[in-house]
Order: sequence, then C-alpha cells, then structure tokens
Amino acid sequence: MIELSYLTVLECSKCGRVFDPDHVQSVCDKCGKPLLASYDIESIKLQFSRKDFAHREASMWRYFEILPVKDKRNIVTLGEGWTPLTPTPRLGDLLGISNLLVKDEGIIPTGSFKARGLSAAISKAKELGIKRVALPSAGNAAGAISAYGARAGMEVYVFMPEDAPKVNIVESLVAGAEVELVKGLITDAGRLAAEGESVKGWFNISTLREPYRIEGKKTMGFEVAEQMGWRLPDVIVYPTGGGTGIIGMWKAFDELEQLGWIGEERPRMVSVQAEGCAPIPKAFKEGREESEYWEGAKTIADGLRVPKALGDFLILRVVRESDGTAVAVSDDEILDSVRMLARVEGIFACPEGGATLAALRRLLDDGSIDHDESVVLFNTGTGLKYIHLFKADAPVHGSSRG
Ligand SMILES: *Cc1c(COP(=O)(O)O)cnc(C)c1O
Ligand SMILES: [Zn+2]
Repeated sequence: MIELSYLTVLECSKCGRVFDPDHVQSVCDKCGKPLLASYDIESIKLQFSRKDFAHREASMWRYFEILPVKDKRNIVTLGEGWTPLTPTPRLGDLLGISNLLVKDEGIIPTGSFKARGLSAAISKAKELGIKRVALPSAGNAAGAISAYGARAGMEVYVFMPEDAPKVNIVESLVAGAEVELVKGLITDAGRLAAEGESVKGWFNISTLREPYRIEGKKTMGFEVAEQMGWRLPDVIVYPTGGGTGIIGMWKAFDELEQLGWIGEERPRMVSVQAEGCAPIPKAFKEGREESEYWEGAKTIADGLRVPKALGDFLILRVVRESDGTAVAVSDDEILDSVRMLARVEGIFACPEGGATLAALRRLLDDGSIDHDESVVLFNTGTGLKYIHLFKADAPVHGSSRG
C-alpha cells in the first residue's frame, strides 16, 4: 500500500478560516491566532485499522498518514518518539496509587521532547523549500532546531534568554547554529525572531506561529493511546510552557476518536506550571478565557518560563473541556520530586518532569485524584541537561601523597 499523508488544509483555531498547506503559512492573517492541520480522517478510516500500525517503525513517524509531510523523502528524523511508557509501581506504592506511569521523553534525540516538534517542523519546511529558519527558545527548542536544521542542511538562527542553560547554548553552537543571547525572556527573544523575518528572510518556527511543531507533539497522544492498548488513562499530568504538547494531545485524541480507534472517553488534563510563572493556573482559577502576561517570570524549570503563550486560550479550553485542572508548584517541590523519581524509579527527570510529580502529590493530597485512577506523568526531558541545579559533593578516596 502506498503510504501518503492525508493532510488537507490548515484551519484557524479561532475563526475557522482555511489556508493552503502547500504554501508557507504562519498564523491566521485575519485574527493572528494559530493554524491547525486537518486530515481526511474518513479516508484513513476506510483504508487502515489500528492493527496496520502495530508493527511499524519505533518512532513518531509510524503515524505518517496523520502527519503533515506529503513525501516521505522529506522526513528529517533522528529516531524521535515511541518513547517508553514506564510503569512506576514503587513510586505508586509510595504515593498510594495503583496505576502510575511515566511517559519518558528523557530518552529521545536532543534530550527533550522538543525533538518531536522540530522533526515535524523542519521536515515540512524542507518540503516547502525553506532554507533558513529561526526560533526563539527558552533552551531545549534551540538545541532541537539546531540538530534537525543541521541534518536538513539549513541555516539556523536561535534566540535565547541570556540566562538560558549553558548546555542549550553549547548544543546549538556545536551543531552550527547562529546563537544570539537576549536580555530578557523568551517573549523578548520572540520579538527578535519575528523582526528578522522580512529583513533576514528566515522562516520563524516560533511555538504555534508555525503550524507543524504541534503536529509532531501530538504524537505523544497517539503513543499513550497505542501503548495502553488503545485506552486512555484517567489523568494526564503535563508541564505546560507554550502548550503545544497539551493542545496537540487533545487534538490527537479527537483524531483517534474520528478514526474509531478510541471512544469518547478522555483523560482529565492537568496543566502544571511553576509558581514563579503561572499564567495558566491563574487564568484557570479566575475563569478567564485567556491568560495575562506574567511579570517577572522566574523558575528553574526553563521550559515553563513562558509569561504569555500564543495558544493560552487553547490550553485553557483543553483543561476545562477535559474537566481537568491547572496547578502551580514551587521550585523546591520540583527539585524534591526530581530526586524522588530518580531514587525510587531510576528516572532522572528534567525539572519540568519533576513538576508533574509535584502536582500529582498535591492533587492526591487534596483528593482531586483518586488512588485507584490511572495516571500518566510526562517527563519531557532528561535530567542530564540540568546538572547545574544539583549540588553533588562526594568524598574523594585515594591519596596522591607519595
Ligand atoms: C518546552 C518544554 C516544556 C513545555 O512544552 P510545551 O508543550 O511547549 O508546553 C516542558 N518541558 C520541557 C523540558 C521543555 O523543554
Ligand atoms: Zn483566524
């Protein structure tokens, strides 16, 4: 059978205007909101069943038909996706919960799940003939676009806050990207990336200004469903920055339901942020449809340091539609949870991943999650990228005296 993408159009997430995916697109030219990809799901449904996907390659590209690249030769991949959904029974025992799993994105090229989004975006950019790309990043997206851009032979420009982790600056530079450090936050970096669009002629791959990163991220939703035997957990706890993952997974579940591969049940989606930058929990609590810019954003979880997300209204919609919630946790709780996950289950999570465990502990304490519910935590990157957060003093043995 010929494999082909069933991508049809891009549709504005706010006003529903339709755009042609064979041309380079950014946000809606009418309302400035993100565009989302649509597929001819009916045709996929007629030709494929869940079983057809069972023996495919162990990467996110196993879902090729429901991804936006039309010609397989344009795929730029390092083997991203199909990460383990690791049962964590010892941690579950400790917390008194019987069915706890960690979707471990620490085991992925470039060390964070940004690889999924950038593999999809760079592949589609290649298909559209784009040669020069730029992106503002808190850190991990810069490393990922540098790697995938290098593999595609593109010129890559990244803009990061000057206090971005050194590892992200190094991984970008080593891969040959032009790196510019910016006084301020990711929103300030975003301004520079946007300003260069017309002057420098690059394509801006900023979160949700570009329509395909979210398509890569949605595969996390496909994978959770497939790995659980086409059943979804009761609760998904997700560390939210720009929100592509949580919005993408929600989209993925809708696509799976239209395919008839899952029913209408949905997990409660928990959006986790840090107390030092919590625009989504604040807007959720206040019943707002959009968030307000968070002044003075500060947290050790760099991926969560997004003071105002372009897709905030979509994140809030997912949380509400799913009957979920939004939680802000402290940096101390985050570090404590990173240590707990490593000590009890051997998973050295990034702080963003630690934040999901911190949130779970709170939600179990206040009774929002029952002890017999199935819960999936998302560890979105490896702790190995964050050793600067840990003080580790070990005794030195052996004498150098003669
Ligand atoms: C970017 C990032 C996040 C936030 O991801 P979104 O899907 O954009 O909300 C979470 N964790 C890590 C490690 C990140 O790099
Ligand atoms: Zn619109």
